[in-house]
Amino acid sequence: MKIQDIQAIQLLLSAPKKIVIIPHRGPDGDAMGSTLALYHFLIKNNHQATVIAPNDFPDFLAWLPGSENVKIFEKDTENCTQILEAAELIFTLDFNAFHRTGEMEHTLAKLTVPFIMIDHHQKPDDYATYMYSDTEFGSTCEMVYNFISFLNKKEDIDKTIATCIYSGILTDSGSFRFPGTTGNTHRIIAELIDLGVENTQIPVLLFDNSSYSRLQLLGRALQNMKVFEEHKTSYTSLTQDELDSFDYVKGDTEGIVNYGLSIKGIIFTAIFIENKDEKIIKISFRSQGGFDVNQFARDHFNGGGHSNAAGGKSELSMEETLVKFEDLVTKLAI
Ligand code: 5GP
Ligand code: MN
Repeated sequence: MKIQDIQAIQLLLSAPKKIVIIPHRGPDGDAMGSTLALYHFLIKNNHQATVIAPNDFPDFLAWLPGSENVKIFEKDTENCTQILEAAELIFTLDFNAFHRTGEMEHTLAKLTVPFIMIDHHQKPDDYATYMYSDTEFGSTCEMVYNFISFLNKKEDIDKTIATCIYSGILTDSGSFRFPGTTGNTHRIIAELIDLGVENTQIPVLLFDNSSYSRLQLLGRALQNMKVFEEHKTSYTSLTQDELDSFDYVKGDTEGIVNYGLSIKGIIFTAIFIENKDEKIIKISFRSQGGFDVNQFARDHFNGGGHSNAAGGKSELSMEETLVKFEDLVTKLAI
């Protein structure tokens, strides 16, 4: 971050303020971990902080300290709008374009208070007064750790804040294996463990918390998988009927996309998930190495993200969407 920006933010935070912290719609471990870490930090510094998520977070994140205080815009729109309109400062974390907040974007666009963006996605929009935006980082949580350090407040990072940061780094780095995981990441992790973070318990809470039906749903997704060996690509899909028949709850499809890359020789994979309520097919893309799924998602599926992990959507039927994808894949020179 620029030194002038850090100084300006220090000044903004020097007196108690009403502050709102916002993650992206469909908040994941990094979005929840980073917003809650910042929330605990701001509360500790006498601010009146509120996390407002555009929609609900999955159950496997409900143990994160402070998640019980997170307000959900979609469920409590009137109250959340009031809190947003009364805010003196807004942080947007783990996203960089208002449309990633869904319906909330219309409310955000009307606000005139300073925005601070902390994010690691490509091509940020220019709504923020102060931006800490860097695609080199594997997680927003790592950036929140740095942000607190820039403010000369590292000693404020206690076990609670450390737990939130640890959880976001762990989930967004694919358990420390995705590109973006650096020596610095591991040095930060080491410090968090020294602060008392329960590093053997957190992965159990995050990853070993499945229901039997979730595992059966995974089985179905694996059976649905198609492989295009000559194009080094695989994909799978889950229809709304399939989700329903396995008692789908939010979060159940998290991580399934990664199995497509575990096949030898496959460097590009996708999962297509039907959402009848929203009348869309939600898509996750993953790649290994140089194939840029962010660009692919932007070019063909109205999405974006990072070069090795991106998402998008399709308003076509599942069948039509898969035909479109297969057609694109057969033209790919990977
Ligand atoms: P996931 O597949 O885990 O939902 O998302 C992978 C990455 O792509 C995340 O960084 C997420 O923020 C981003 N992403 C997912 N869906 C979309 C989308 O529809 N638009 C954009 N711009 N980014 C997305
Ligand atoms: Mn992230």
